Amino acid sequence: MPACIKADVPLAPFTTLKVGGKARFLATVTSLVELQEAVQFAHETSLPLFVLGSGSNVLASDQGFAGLVLYVQLQGCEYTVTDTEVSVWVAAGENLDRVVADSVARGFWGLENLSHIPGTVGATPIQNVGAYGVEVADLITAVEVFDCLTHTVRQLSREECQFAYRDSLFKHLEGQHLIVVRVHFVLSVTPTPRLTYGDLQSLQNNPDITPQVIRDAVIAIRSKKFPDWHVIGTAGSFFKNPIIPIEQVVQLQKLYPELPVYPYSDTTSKVSLAYILDKVCGLKGFKQGNVGLFEAQALVLVAYTPATADEIDTFARLVAEKVYSITAISIEREVRMLG
Ligand code: NAP
Repeated sequence: MPACIKADVPLAPFTTLKVGGKARFLATVTSLVELQEAVQFAHETSLPLFVLGSGSNVLASDQGFAGLVLYVQLQGCEYTVTDTEVSVWVAAGENLDRVVADSVARGFWGLENLSHIPGTVGATPIQNVGAYGVEVADLITAVEVFDCLTHTVRQLSREECQFAYRDSLFKHLEGQHLIVVRVHFVLSVTPTPRLTYGDLQSLQNNPDITPQVIRDAVIAIRSKKFPDWHVIGTAGSFFKNPIIPIEQVVQLQKLYPELPVYPYSDTTSKVSLAYILDKVCGLKGFKQGNVGLFEAQALVLVAYTPATADEIDTFARLVAEKVYSITAISIEREVRMLG
């Protein structure tokens, strides 16, 4: 067995929800060679693979995972700066917020709205992570992947990644054999502030706007809304904001005129699930046993020790049922199941 692989590893410390049983094997991968060895081992032993970044969007089963978890710890950031543009290749295991902080400290524009999001850079293209009007798809021009079918490394263009709202090729069957190794972002040296979201609009008249000013504002907002995962078990937003047919929005708005609605496509709109959970379903702060919806932001599920994955799963189902029974909206989980 390759040296980077350990057997019977408890998963709870590897996820921010802090629950879950053991992985049959866990490979801590710090180089391409280790990645290749670990994938080869999984193939030879016919074990399923699960790629894990920093576990901030994962619910690990109490029964554990009868396969190989690839804990991607590839590190490195390579900047190329010209008069107008900044090109940066970032390894998948880098912490996103450290990369954001570094690019902001260098005065580069692009990543600042994505401040204070837990997780690794390798996870960002998977669900096209976004916040406050910026998605990584706006900044990514290529993604380098390890192909588990051919055991080779290759590059995908932005188009090939098929980015959509919190979605990409990597979440679908045809992309599931691809492991993100490095991500290429293009940032700007000239100001490109994105301040359209309500929480940031107060900065629109700030003549001294810099990436750092925006980062500081986003951190202040997020610190109020999201619990500190170092202290409480959480995976941030547990559910996605629903995208629903416009006719359904019109019906809902008759009952709830203040429901925040944002255009999405010609036939659909995005609605605020936080509002629905709080104002429509009265579920903000709703708690059962060791699991609840966070007082300051109902979209955030919190798990208090000694919560279990089963308890979290049951609670999330209950919330989804309540939302469906009141609004006829089927909400989807953003969090991925491990095991
Ligand atoms: P929020 O700011 O209360 O917004 C709730 C919903 O309204 C989101 O779907 C957001 O869209 C949408 N929205 C708000 N202002 C909008 C505008 N001016 N134009 C279009 N859509 C607008 O959300 P929150 O839950 O507190 O989260 C803050 C930010 O972090 C949001 O942008 C949220 O999406 C993001 N976030 C992202 C992830 C992830 O990428 N996995 C996880 C957690 C939170 P968007 O979803 O398009 O922003």
